[in-house]
Amino acid sequence: LEAYLGADVGSVSTNLALVDGEGQVLTTLYLRTQGKPVQVVQEGLRTLEEEGPPGLRIAGAGSTGSARQLVGVVLGADVVKNEITAHAVAALHLAPDVRTVFEIGGQDSKVIILRNGVVVDFAMNTVCAAGTGSFLDHQAARLGVPIERFGDLALAAANPVRIAGRCGVFAESDMIHKQQEGHRLEDIVAGLCEALVRNYLNNVGKGKDLRPPVYFQGGVAANAGIRWAFERALGYPVTVPEHHKVMGAIGAALLAREAIARERRPTSFRGWTVSEVECLSGSFECRGCPNRCEVVQVWLSGEIIARWGDRCGKWGNLPVARPAG
Ligand code: SF4
Repeated sequence: LEAYLGADVGSVSTNLALVDGEGQVLTTLYLRTQGKPVQVVQEGLRTLEEEGPPGLRIAGAGSTGSARQLVGVVLGADVVKNEITAHAVAALHLAPDVRTVFEIGGQDSKVIILRNGVVVDFAMNTVCAAGTGSFLDHQAARLGVPIERFGDLALAAANPVRIAGRCGVFAESDMIHKQQEGHRLEDIVAGLCEALVRNYLNNVGKGKDLRPPVYFQGGVAANAGIRWAFERALGYPVTVPEHHKVMGAIGAALLAREAIARERRPTSFRGWTVSEVECLSGSFECRGCPNRCEVVQVWLSGEIIARWGDRCGKWGNLPVARPAG
């Protein structure tokens, strides 16, 4: 069986996906990055090889996420693309008419605006926690409610309270105030979901031309309360795709499939053995001129396979060990 591998490696999670030649999702993996992106990808590859269908052959590989460049060279990826492109491609594969993608993860959030299958605008927020999953996790812990129950509680609310404040800190103090006033738990939870959506729309969604159909992706999309709050704020339905947690990885796999078909060449994927080899990365400051670039180097089995970070090409243009295949 031939499959295309996608890896979406961020600071919090590392997601892997395999899609077949038709673009159908075969399997996905969601792992914690824990500050070790390469090791976690290697561990994920071992799991895919062991648990995947027998005789699985990788016909193409793609990487995305903040560690895409590092993971891309380690895998021998055919394509390395940013998260905006990967999320957009995955959503378009499911719904060619999609016009807006919301993505909310644990630590960051983005909005992507598409028209006729093309990304025309986007925004990312990596600074303010008030529009991300960590805001909800924190408030859930404060209320003593498991985050998994948040969605059901929010949907059971009769009179959602309005929790004021544009940022997490003010929202929290207002939430405590509402608790002291004796509001029901489900009304407070629903109010928190609405506060997150309001923060998201006022922050990352500010000035964006949001139009349906909307796809809602990322780990937070599992929370039915947030989807409800989006639909209430926007006045139209919001779709949560089945694989909402790993859409970036699916997008990277689809991009690899496209690149291989377009360029009619064999994959540069290094093979399953890449999960067994020793990979190290490090950086040094070049003192060749006042730019003082920080040059990153990656070693695989003791050989340098990539260098980047130099502005002039002095290091990046040096020969490196070529990927196998
Ligand atoms: S890598 Fe090139 S541009 Fe950067 S400090 Fe060295 S010589 Fe200067």
